[in-house]
Amino acid sequence: MTKSEFKTFLKAVPKAEIHIHIEAVISLAGVKKLYKNRFGKEMSKEEQVALFSYDDLNGFIQAFLKIQDMYVSEDDFNLVFKELEKYLVSNGITYCEAFFAPSAFIKKGFNYAKMVEIFHKQIKRIKEKDGITIKLLMDVSRTFGCENAMKNYEMLKSVPCEDIIGIGLGGAEAKGPAKDFAPVYELALKEGYKAVAHAGEDVGPESIWDSINYLHAQRIGHGITAIQDEKLMKQIADTQLPLEVCITSNTFTKKIVQEASQHPIRQFYDKGMLVTVNTDDPVFFKTTLLDEFWICYKCLNFTMDEIKQLVKNAYTASFLSDSAKKKAITAVNKAWTI
Ligand SMILES: [Zn+2]
Repeated sequence: MTKSEFKTFLKAVPKAEIHIHIEAVISLAGVKKLYKNRFGKEMSKEEQVALFSYDDLNGFIQAFLKIQDMYVSEDDFNLVFKELEKYLVSNGITYCEAFFAPSAFIKKGFNYAKMVEIFHKQIKRIKEKDGITIKLLMDVSRTFGCENAMKNYEMLKSVPCEDIIGIGLGGAEAKGPAKDFAPVYELALKEGYKAVAHAGEDVGPESIWDSINYLHAQRIGHGITAIQDEKLMKQIADTQLPLEVCITSNTFTKKIVQEASQHPIRQFYDKGMLVTVNTDDPVFFKTTLLDEFWICYKCLNFTMDEIKQLVKNAYTASFLSDSAKKKAITAVNKAWTI
């Protein structure tokens, strides 16, 4: 099957993506628009190249923060959701759980309630227009410490919104050990929120163990350093704790893998772990969900039946209700015509 045949086929199959950061879905054209509003001049070619040049997780986080700094008001999130909508439609994604990270915006003086109002309006509009369901997870952020994370969580609770279903922990993994954030996770889970955590992306398997033992995370973002720990892989397989795998993202940050063909998702799958395929930050890493599945097929020897299983895994690992998962998986089976 050629790449174009593969993508045409897979686009028509309903899919879920459960690890994506909304601020990183914005296209280069969108970034340029933000830049012009923020600085009152066009972004130069050199600045574009410099912004998108990084070769580790911290370099990438700096770029992410620079783009967040270009937002001048809550209204800029209207642009973000329009870009997200375009991305979801062009990849045939019917269900999405996406992260948003409020810390940088709150520090700039943005009004959280106004942000949530825009999120809700846009999510409702996209549901009505495209039939796509979007749920959000607040990235309480490990970059600014536990106190800031707790403040973010309190803020989440202060503006209840059906679209925001829980919390995540992204940012500089080496600087923010998971166990530091246990008080936030304990409270969130007790109060009925969902809780996931990036772990084992930039730090070894101990970070994943901490996310399991101290945070009781319901999914692990990335989790690739699990490959260094047989006992951990067995536990993840036995408990069917989902991994949100982001192949291209990992080849950019180069912690464990230098190229896609070395990615441990193949071994994880073969060990019976519940792995899902995601993009993380499609614009930053110049990828799409369809591209990530193509990489599984082309570089990691996943058969079409296995690709089908990966597509279903994303619904299984999602926070949809059991009946909605069943319905979604039935739709995948129906659309899978080869
Ligand atoms: Zn991420």
